[in-house]
Amino acid sequence: MLYLDNAATTPVRAEALQAAWPFLTNEYGNPSSTHELGLRAKSALDWARNSCANFLGCNPEEIVFTSGATESNNLAIKGLALANPRGKHIISAATEHSSVLESLEFLVDFHGFTLTLLPVSAEGFVTVDQLKSALRPDTTLVTLMMANNEIGTVHPIAELAAAAKAAGALFHTDAVQAAGWLPMDTRHLGVDALSISGHKFGAPKGSGLLYLRQRNETVPLLHGGGQENGRRSGTENVAWAVALATALSLLPTPDAVAKTKAAATTLIEGVTSRFSNARLTGPHPDSNRRHPAIASFTFQGINGETLLLELENAGVICSSGSACSAGSDEPSHVLVALGLDHDVCRTAVRFSFGHDASTDQSVQALSALERALTRISSL
Ligand code: PMP
Repeated sequence: MLYLDNAATTPVRAEALQAAWPFLTNEYGNPSSTHELGLRAKSALDWARNSCANFLGCNPEEIVFTSGATESNNLAIKGLALANPRGKHIISAATEHSSVLESLEFLVDFHGFTLTLLPVSAEGFVTVDQLKSALRPDTTLVTLMMANNEIGTVHPIAELAAAAKAAGALFHTDAVQAAGWLPMDTRHLGVDALSISGHKFGAPKGSGLLYLRQRNETVPLLHGGGQENGRRSGTENVAWAVALATALSLLPTPDAVAKTKAAATTLIEGVTSRFSNARLTGPHPDSNRRHPAIASFTFQGINGETLLLELENAGVICSSGSACSAGSDEPSHVLVALGLDHDVCRTAVRFSFGHDASTDQSVQALSALERALTRISSL
């Protein structure tokens, strides 16, 4: 079976599990305890924090370990918007992940915020000019994702963050699909907050972090013992923090990323040349603003869910878009935002490569697609 659903989740890396194992067994101390077992847990947590900070080019105090990116996004958006006295206007885009959109809706429904949801281009982009004209004196927060999980559009985050900053607003980015694929140095990006999820790059599900600039006030979501510098109370999950930091430290080199991009390009060229009803979604294949590992297509006239089943029968696992909304009858809000017909949206299939990608995998996916489509047309 060929697994091409890495944007949904990835297998846990043995190194990450091995590094976490002592903290699930003998080293079970609470990092807040002052005895030896506690101090050892604290030092492991410090190591994880320093290692993640090193990766993101920030101070260790700016790392908040969370239960994943859903929590990171909620904390960044609600926490920053509610603490910032500047005003009650927030800006985002129509193609964001539901954990972002729902957090924004919460601010609108329960805290009287006004939301500007920017429309995107046919390739999924928001431009800097669009953002500039939406910014207002009372804009507190802008949140725009670095890379889209369904169509692989990569936003120019440094430019967008600079525009927000020039207007006095804070900037958060959901960088979940960027980790392992795109540069993520917070000094270069100039963002105030950035969310990451461990299970997208070989750490366990339920591990995540939020980079939160030190000088920014935040309202915590979880109140209690004041862990994580008072930004996220609750006994720290030392094992998952260690696993996350380990997986982050093992992310592939630019060479491996280039190999993945070549595999995705082979797939894109093969699909669009062989199947006349197939259309690539997201940026043009030559664009340097395209995610190296994500390739999603619509197949006019074919039911996406049926195609997924037939692909699985032919030995390839992929998805219809976001795993979070899989199984729902609603067309993907991302594809709808691109201006596609609802019927066309229901024909979408997303392939997402892992760090082990090869052109052999693309060839295998193409032949599975050939068999799956032939079988569907014979039904
Ligand atoms: N944002 C994006 C872009 C994602 O792809 C996901 C996971 N599908 C999330 C946020 C949520 O992450 P988690 O599963 O860690 O809650």
